[in-house]
Amino acid sequence: MSIETLVYALIGWLVGVFINHAADTLPRRVTLGERPRCPACGTPRAPAAWSAVVGYLSGRRACLGCGMPLPLRSVVVEVIVPAIFVGLLWRYGLSVHLGLLSLYSAILILITVTDLEHHLVLNVVMMPAILLAMVGAFFNDDLSYQRVFLGGAAGFVSLYGMFLLAQPVSALLSRLSGREVSEVPFGFGDVTLGTFIGLITGLPGVFFALLITLLSAGLGAALFWFVRAVIQRRYTLFTPIPYGPFLVLGGFVMMVYGPEILQWYIAGMT
Ligand SMILES: [Zn+2]
Repeated sequence: MSIETLVYALIGWLVGVFINHAADTLPRRVTLGERPRCPACGTPRAPAAWSAVVGYLSGRRACLGCGMPLPLRSVVVEVIVPAIFVGLLWRYGLSVHLGLLSLYSAILILITVTDLEHHLVLNVVMMPAILLAMVGAFFNDDLSYQRVFLGGAAGFVSLYGMFLLAQPVSALLSRLSGREVSEVPFGFGDVTLGTFIGLITGLPGVFFALLITLLSAGLGAALFWFVRAVIQRRYTLFTPIPYGPFLVLGGFVMMVYGPEILQWYIAGMT
């Protein structure tokens, strides 16, 4: 392993620590400047436990106030982010493009965590992310700035259409199932996320990203239904699933592998 890889993995780990901190603080509407605290009792964490990996390795995994262990999610994020960063480094080499895609990946992971844990795609994350992706349009080696902005517009329009459709569809489903469907599966946060994904995948990659989203969400819903109905014998027909993680999946795949997938698709067409 080269020193370059090692340093970039270390940067990825620090970014992972920061993502965890943002995921712990932002949904509670407190500033990033707040000291890391236990989510259960509010006791400030010892500096050795600011990183979950260091916390577990140094035996400081339990909260000093209530004994609750550091969340496993924090460990997962601190492992996954450096892995992605190193994968990107090996693919792109040291470049502005690498920095850009690393930042985009970090944002996608933060969105996944807050969406899974709180069903929230936060504006405080999405607005700077969209601005960054608009500036990034001029430094993207894979996409021209025209394709980036057209992709963003296509992502916004597609997701806004789905957002408008979600209300009547969910009202219809609640009438059909004879009970209140309280949670609309598609929030406005998904529209801002769709815009961001359009900006990082460009046109026509954004449409492939949405296709991957729909296929994987369908597969995820089928799997969820199977587990509930067949294994747990609890049959529920209409359970909204959060679309955020599936949008992130489609966006990430097309952001990184878009050029190959589009080339392969065009070769198959002709
Ligand atoms: Zn505690």
